[in-house]
Amino acid sequence: MDFKKYIEIVEDYPKEGIRFKDITTLMQDGPAYKAAIDQMADYARDKNVDVIVGPEARGFVVGCPIAYSLEVGFVPVRKAGKLPREVISVDYGLEYGKDSLTIHKDAIKKGQRVVITDDLLATGGTIEATIKMVEQLGGVVVGVAFMIELGYLEGRSRLDGYDLFSLMTYN
Ligand code: AMP
Repeated sequence: MDFKKYIEIVEDYPKEGIRFKDITTLMQDGPAYKAAIDQMADYARDKNVDVIVGPEARGFVVGCPIAYSLEVGFVPVRKAGKLPREVISVDYGLEYGKDSLTIHKDAIKKGQRVVITDDLLATGGTIEATIKMVEQLGGVVVGVAFMIELGYLEGRSRLDGYDLFSLMTYN
């Protein structure tokens, strides 16, 4: 399937110079959304995954249906102050901002095979921070899956040594 035809590109959103890739137009098409999730789930299945981890909010949109279809757990990574129990946290930089991410301290068991999912790889800051927390909890990151990779931002080089999968790449 040509997934790119379902992605709307919005110029100068949320600020000048950013070409925002809108995945909501893919999600609102049932067969396209299912085909995209199925391909990502196949990737995670091949990695023998125990648990899917995804950062809010679009990492949930991608990660939850993958976890459901593979019958494995889903662990949310959220912005500071959003998770109710004891967390670990890490600061990270974005293509357009700065923030801190958290994960529940008991969410991952030592040695569990983790696939991290998100809608889009830009600079790689979000995923780098997510990997750090998963590894701090003893998880093994066996793969990272995106719908979209922005090749020109070279997020991939920041995640050197990890197995990456993306459905679409924009250069
Ligand atoms: P990054 O940490 O730089 O890899 O970017 C993390 C998140 O920011 C991605 O998962 C997207 O949700 C969002 N994002 C960054 N750049 C874009 C873009 N050009 N279009 C759409 N979403 C973006």
